[in-house]
Amino acid sequence: MELLFLGTSSGTPTKTRNVTALALIEDQGSGWCLIDCGEGTQHQLLQTSLSVRDLQAIFITHVHGDHCYGLPGLLASAGMGGRNASLKIVAPEGIEEWFRSTQVHTQLHLPFEIEFVRAEPLRGLQVGQWFVDAIELSHRVPSFAYSFTEAHVEPALDTEKLLRDGVPQGPLWGRLKKGQDVEHQGRLLRHADYLTHPYAPRKIIVGGDNDRPALLTEASKGCQVLVHEATYTADVAAKVGPGVGHSYAELVAAFAQSVGLPHLVLTHFSARYQSNVEQGPSMEDIRLEAASVYHGKLALAEDFARYRLNRAGELSSIAIAD
Ligand SMILES: [Zn+2]
Ligand SMILES: [Zn+2]
Repeated sequence: MELLFLGTSSGTPTKTRNVTALALIEDQGSGWCLIDCGEGTQHQLLQTSLSVRDLQAIFITHVHGDHCYGLPGLLASAGMGGRNASLKIVAPEGIEEWFRSTQVHTQLHLPFEIEFVRAEPLRGLQVGQWFVDAIELSHRVPSFAYSFTEAHVEPALDTEKLLRDGVPQGPLWGRLKKGQDVEHQGRLLRHADYLTHPYAPRKIIVGGDNDRPALLTEASKGCQVLVHEATYTADVAAKVGPGVGHSYAELVAAFAQSVGLPHLVLTHFSARYQSNVEQGPSMEDIRLEAASVYHGKLALAEDFARYRLNRAGELSSIAIAD
């Protein structure tokens, strides 16, 4: 599965970073999910190979505009582009009301159904190759993280055991792999005895805005990748005060370290952080602060950065999107 960042700025876009959106792409086929949809997300998509026709569901973390103002435009364009398959939008209270009202007042008639699903009690919703849960966070408005857990791990044959038990290679092996019990020389061979699961289900958590990363402690079990906001560094967070409801690099990195998360990808950076280290607060300040307390694999997301999570649960950067 892959992550493709479509927007990594908080609050306002910059010349190099749009507001928040992230695509989660399936291993096979062209299906994908969108997590948050800041204004201009549809323009960002035009720079990628993703199509809104293959979009399986949209997950909105909270009602703030930098996470959802791109929805009406994206869906209007999907309609004009000929999409007719229904679409799930998982979101907290307020998004459906706002979107429906926009539809009424701008006479937006879509050629496909939108099925809104409330984030609040979401547990085990199956979308594509994932089971999705929502976890409540702490922000100025109700905000959620979504965890995506691989729904099906393809089993492998325990070939050593098969050979040891004298089961000849061939059609019998194929049937066992498909989950069928078979008979061989008067013996019933149960498929469960000959199948192994070669890797643990992969799990990714994508957080919304949040000033208490520890709320993700339980959900982090078995998780390989946490995508979380680090809007500020600690010094700037102290200046802006706790009321903004955001995390700073050290806070989220220390949490990731405390629960042993193998991969941490930071995003949603304040526009004050420059890529050029010479010009005041920079992205390097965020990186250094996070790296001072987190010893797993750390990445700072950029627009169009793309990462692949392989079956062994290792995340790697796979260059900028096409
Ligand atoms: Zn935000
Ligand atoms: Zn927010």
